[in-house]
Parts: sequence; C-alpha cells; structure tokens
Amino acid sequence: MLHLLKHPLGAHIITHLRDRTTKPVTFRTLTYQIGLLLALESTREMRTREVVIETPLETYRGPVLGDSLVLVPILRAAIGLVQPFTDLFPDVSIGYVGLERDHETAIARSYYCKLPPLAGRHVLIVDPMLATGGSAVQTIRLVRENGGETISVVCVVAAPEGVQAVEAVDPAIPIFAAVLDRELNTRKYILPGVGDYGDRLYGT
Ligand code: URA
Repeated sequence: MLHLLKHPLGAHIITHLRDRTTKPVTFRTLTYQIGLLLALESTREMRTREVVIETPLETYRGPVLGDSLVLVPILRAAIGLVQPFTDLFPDVSIGYVGLERDHETAIARSYYCKLPPLAGRHVLIVDPMLATGGSAVQTIRLVRENGGETISVVCVVAAPEGVQAVEAVDPAIPIFAAVLDRELNTRKYILPGVGDYGDRLYGT
C-alpha cells in the first residue's frame, strides 16, 4: 500500500531536488528536510505505551513511544536520510545494507549487510529512489532472513514499477514516498525524477 506525503512543503522540496542546478550542499539540506517529513509520516501508526510520571503539580499517566525502530538505509544514497530519522528518534538502531546497481543491467548486487536484532521491532527500509524495486525487494529478503517481520519501505521518489515490485512480494508492506513519478526510462532511471540520487548528494 502506497502512502504519499500530502504536505505542500514536501512538494516544494521535491521541485528543488529535481532542479538540475541545485548544488550538492543544497541537495543534502533538502534531503534532510524531506527526511524529517518522511520520518513523521512513516511512523504515524507507531504504538505507544502508558507511563506514570510526576509533573511539578501532580501525578500524570501519559503515552510514550512503544515500538522499537530499526532503520535500514541502503548504501549509499540513503545515508542522506539517516540524520533526520535519528534526530527525531534517537533510540533507533541502524543496520546497513550495501547494494550496488549495475549501470548496464540495473540489477542490484549485495556487497555489505550488517543488521541489528530485528525480531519484534519495526524495520524501516530506506532508499531515496524506488525505481525497479530490485534493491528494496532484496533488502526485504535480507531483513526477513534476519528475523524482521514488521517492515515498511520509505523513499523520496517512487516509480510505479518499484511500487508493484514491493507489492508483489507482500502487499501488506506499507510504502511511504514523497511523490509517485511517471515511469522508468530505458536505463531504469525515474522520470521526471531527480537523476542519480547518490551523485546529486555527494557531487560525484
Ligand atoms: N536510482 C537513482 O539514483 N535515480 C533513479 O532515477 C533511479 C535509481
């Protein structure tokens, strides 16, 4: 199930991310900002638990966050989205998955996987561009092999093909995106898209 950001600030940020004249320093700031919006949206259904505390005036029973979060950024472009999540959720654990996209075949190859314990925790797989969905699907498989059950996919730009690929694996996995774009080109880049997210982020 695809959930799109509806905030005008999200649409504003996306337009500036798309702009080819946006320099890496600004691209990184915009990525941080869209990351904050995505972090809020993707945790909207997070469970809470009740605690009892003392205010300066009386005893109070109130909610605190109850779910344990694990962020799984797919190297390298998703590194740009780690900071907004850890700023809002300082207790989040982070597991890294390294997948490299072959520029000729567009097929993702795994070269690194370091995951914390996942059982009983909410795993947020983060990748800015959900293009073919190949990286997301491979990461869902790795997360499941390591005991992860509750999984969401978080991206900045989604393509219809990527959404379909994730839904084909498990239609119950929620996908959170800032925007759904039109299509992939023959080289599997998203149109209109932002170009190569890692290159834009790191000036490579
Ligand atoms: N990865 C990117 O960085 N950009 C695309 O358009 C597709 C995949």
